[in-house]
Amino acid sequence: MKIGCPKEIKPQEFRVGLTPNAAVEAVAHGHNVIIERGAGVGAGFPDEAYEAAGATLVDTAEEVFATADMIVKVKEPQAGERKMLREGQLLFTYLHLAPDPEQTHDLLASGCTAIAYETVTDDRGGLPLLAPMSEVAGKLAPQVGAWTLQKANGGRGTLLGGVPGVGRGKVLVIGGGVVGTHAARIASGMGAEVTVLDMSLARLRYLDDAFRGEFATGYAGRAYTAELLQEADMVVGAVLIPGAAAPKLVSREQLSTMKPGAALVDVAIDQGGCFETSKPTTHADPIYEVDGIMHYCVANMPGAVARTSTIALGNATMPFMLALADKGWKQACADDPNLLNGLNVHAGKLTYYAVGKALGIDV
Ligand code: NAD
Repeated sequence: MKIGCPKEIKPQEFRVGLTPNAAVEAVAHGHNVIIERGAGVGAGFPDEAYEAAGATLVDTAEEVFATADMIVKVKEPQAGERKMLREGQLLFTYLHLAPDPEQTHDLLASGCTAIAYETVTDDRGGLPLLAPMSEVAGKLAPQVGAWTLQKANGGRGTLLGGVPGVGRGKVLVIGGGVVGTHAARIASGMGAEVTVLDMSLARLRYLDDAFRGEFATGYAGRAYTAELLQEADMVVGAVLIPGAAAPKLVSREQLSTMKPGAALVDVAIDQGGCFETSKPTTHADPIYEVDGIMHYCVANMPGAVARTSTIALGNATMPFMLALADKGWKQACADDPNLLNGLNVHAGKLTYYAVGKALGIDV
């Protein structure tokens, strides 16, 4: 199969859909890999690395789209890219179609077959192609929160780890899933006093067992959340209700009960955010202040560490990418129901129920 990977064109997107290592594997499986020149540079992969991997470099995205049987990307295809998709072509990337009718209609009109990273599942009901980005965002959260807490950034001027004679900073993590667990581990490693709240007792039990008191756990009831909020130097919002907008767990009114200059890091901002005062920000201008409380609400946090994110995503997508290339999408999806769950669009038809429901399109 001819596997094509264009350079990402969404603003501030430095990741790339295929790493040189993935190209080596694909070539070893007998496939042709076509990469747009410069596609990997933002993630630290020069053209020479792809050449050494046995890939063919081309000058334009048009050449990639015109030649490849399967396009592998990171972000959803942008309007110009969607025009280049053709009937029967396979697209493997993040799509997030439910809130995006324009993209959905273009993909349907193209006649392509589109498999979305975000709806591929694993045997335990997890989302293996989303999890690596949650791991990245979780580990970044205390790092960006600590930066937000610095005086020059409008923060409280608290060092999370404290120093001898000065107490540690307090970090509250709301939501103890993938993001929350990684955030708690890093915050705790920075020396902060960390509490993780979740509504799932099973999850709290797991965290308690697995981390043996490295951080405290608590049930995310309103009263307890409000109590911890008053003491926190940093709060990480890390909740997810699959398929739904994030619940608002901290109201604007509650900001006045917090320490002035405390930092809110709303990782759940891509689902609308879990603080009432959250609004999406960008890496170029990541923080803002409301009622004396600093907010960090970047919707694509993994983009800040494009190299790590690209490799992490590539590790997760590679087996699926190879299965699609080796067997063709029909056989690969017939053999693996988890991959079949990724199928969102085929030959002008929507094939994913939740997207159809959200957009009012028949599935
Ligand atoms: P996850 O499913 O692994 O974990 C979510 C946790 O939230 C679960 O343990 C669940 O029990 C808990 N939860 C649900 N409702 C709750 C409530 N009311 N109070 C307390 N806990 C509650 O999800 P995840 O992979 O950790 O993702 C968390 C969020 O981070 C999602 O919205 C995801 O889209 C987002 N995310 C954002 C970025 C970014 O760049 N901003 C990157 C990756 C993930």
